[in-house]
Amino acid sequence: MASPVPIPDSEASRFLISDLLDLLESYLETEQVREIYRAYLFGAEAHEGQMRISGEPYIYHPIEVAHILADMRMDAESIIAGILHDVIEDTGTLKETVTSEFSEDVAELVDGVSKLTQIKFESQAEAQAENFRKMILAMVRDIRVILVKLADRLHNMRTLGVMRAEKRRRIARETLEIYAPIANRLGMNQIRLELEELGFAALYPMRYRVLSDAVKKARGNRKEILNKIESAIQHRLDEEQLSCRLLSREKHLYSLYKKIRDRVGSFTEVFDVYAFRVIVDSVDTCYRVLGKMHNLYKPVPGKFKDYIAIPKTNGYQSLHTVLFGPYGVPIEVQIRSEDMERVAEVGIAAHWLYKSSEKARSNNAQTRAREWLRELLEMQRNAGNSLEFLESVKIDLFPDEVYVFTPAGDILELPRGATAVDFAYAVHTDVGNTCIAAKIDRRLAPLRTPLLNGQTVEVITATGAHPNPAWLNFVSTAKARTNIRHYLKNLQNDEATELGQRLLDKALHNINSALADIQDESFERVMAECGFKSRESLYADIGLGNRMAMLVARRLVPVEEGSEEKIRETGHSKPLAIRDTEGMVVHFARCCRPIPGDAIVGFISSGRGLVIHTETCKNLTDFRRRPEKWIDVEWQPDIKGEFPAEIRVDVSNQKGILATIAAEISATGSNIENVSIEERDGLDTSMNFTVAVHDRRHLARVMRCVRKLPAVMRISRSKS
Ligand code: MN
Repeated sequence: MASPVPIPDSEASRFLISDLLDLLESYLETEQVREIYRAYLFGAEAHEGQMRISGEPYIYHPIEVAHILADMRMDAESIIAGILHDVIEDTGTLKETVTSEFSEDVAELVDGVSKLTQIKFESQAEAQAENFRKMILAMVRDIRVILVKLADRLHNMRTLGVMRAEKRRRIARETLEIYAPIANRLGMNQIRLELEELGFAALYPMRYRVLSDAVKKARGNRKEILNKIESAIQHRLDEEQLSCRLLSREKHLYSLYKKIRDRVGSFTEVFDVYAFRVIVDSVDTCYRVLGKMHNLYKPVPGKFKDYIAIPKTNGYQSLHTVLFGPYGVPIEVQIRSEDMERVAEVGIAAHWLYKSSEKARSNNAQTRAREWLRELLEMQRNAGNSLEFLESVKIDLFPDEVYVFTPAGDILELPRGATAVDFAYAVHTDVGNTCIAAKIDRRLAPLRTPLLNGQTVEVITATGAHPNPAWLNFVSTAKARTNIRHYLKNLQNDEATELGQRLLDKALHNINSALADIQDESFERVMAECGFKSRESLYADIGLGNRMAMLVARRLVPVEEGSEEKIRETGHSKPLAIRDTEGMVVHFARCCRPIPGDAIVGFISSGRGLVIHTETCKNLTDFRRRPEKWIDVEWQPDIKGEFPAEIRVDVSNQKGILATIAAEISATGSNIENVSIEERDGLDTSMNFTVAVHDRRHLARVMRCVRKLPAVMRISRSKS
């Protein structure tokens, strides 16, 4: 800067900046600190005369933001971007000016943060989702953008008190729903915890106060036992001459609140956990301390977790164990090295600290964050709309993982509850799309089986196989969900188009016309009236049940006055042939489970397509009042496939009777899909089998074979 820059007048701002510079000198080069001071002068001049709502000079805020970044030991460029983060947005300084005064990277960072700042996560879900997508894209370009943004948000949360109540709540909610989970996903624990506590206090002031009073009261009672445990642990560690830091951890109010809200336990149950952290010098010592702890108090089985050998997705490493303390109180102990502690506190920000001095140390948190962002990009390419994308990402933002092995011994991490299908998609999208079965620890297992830590999973694929809609009921990873939906959406569209075309043709037959007879002009006119660009989309809308085929037919062939009655009498067309097993737009009702040979009727259900019931189904009475939704249907004569039917078998109790019946059913070539058993008294039992059959004749054969068993007293096809 050529002209002498006016030094900002306020005492406080001079104090804030010298405090920041002191901190920076502890880890940056003198040259870099000088550059940062220049950025401060530049920023102070740009914001000259501006005030925050609190009445303080505006420049306080960027200095504090830079301070938060310096606490994380961020690099000089990030600190400068922190100081200048509002100059483009709020002072009209040009991006080019920032580039020429500082650097391209700094300008990009400031610009990125400004763009994030413009994003408002308003109540409307769709707008929020679209904004979230933009934010992810900005993060992918330079991850430091989100770090600066998080620092900005954290300082705004610290000074939230001056805002109007409504704005305060909006910002607090956004912080809890978007920013805290992102901080968590990036392993930035310190920032996450503070964002959560501040967000909780601002969003639910009453609950916050009640809970913090309860904690204060309960803390008094805990004091004695806490001290007792602490000195027992310290004593044992001293005895072994293990040098370490022992910290007792307070539960944070927001995590207490969440546990109580989600009914994990009552206040006392949740609160009465004594938590300690032992920080040591090396990985080796971690395991030695663990041994001493398990020797001091008995460990609670199944609670030990080795996140050192297998780090969490966000790079977090530590040993976790739970012990039975004195009077049976649970004690949670975390054991980790100083390095791990650092990563646990600041997550990916730890990367910049190590960058210069210890290049050899591979930073897990950093690589993992990049991997995550890359996956997000891929996901957003596949997701149909922003909402779907947001839903997918939300699953990812609240992880709780299991670790499983591929047959080659590679470790894959999946969210808890993930199934073989999730595993298949995690291996590769194509593997997921064509998987038909899975072996878990070398044994065949259903695809829906939830995986457990340490299992080896092998996926069996078949060319030509494709995703099943039923998978959506149990998959738990965003990747699997997005890919299955993507596949089904295309498929459903094709099927709906085809069904819609057949329905329309049938409707036209009812008024003595046919699709082939309709002039192009008539089509154009009706499409324009209904707002469709192509015949296919019109057909698809009919096929999905959103539009009545009959009404479209009437528009295509305007009916002459007085001829209506005649048509109804003479216009008799063949029923629609049902020629497929359950597809995307033809469903078989679960209430009556029709199989080929049953007399059937179809009912158009909007959004779903055509649902087939048996003519005798009890549920039909409900639909009787809406005859316009009925469709005449019949089975295609040569229909193939398997259809589930339910049979109920009453038997007298006999050893091995279930196995005998099951063998008898299999012998007829039918698969048993489900069995449920209700014991009525000591002597008699009712069993319900869901069996897959080709048609009525097949079912009759199954029933005949079962009936001839001596123990079987009664057998019937059940229609709930
Ligand atoms: Mn700001």
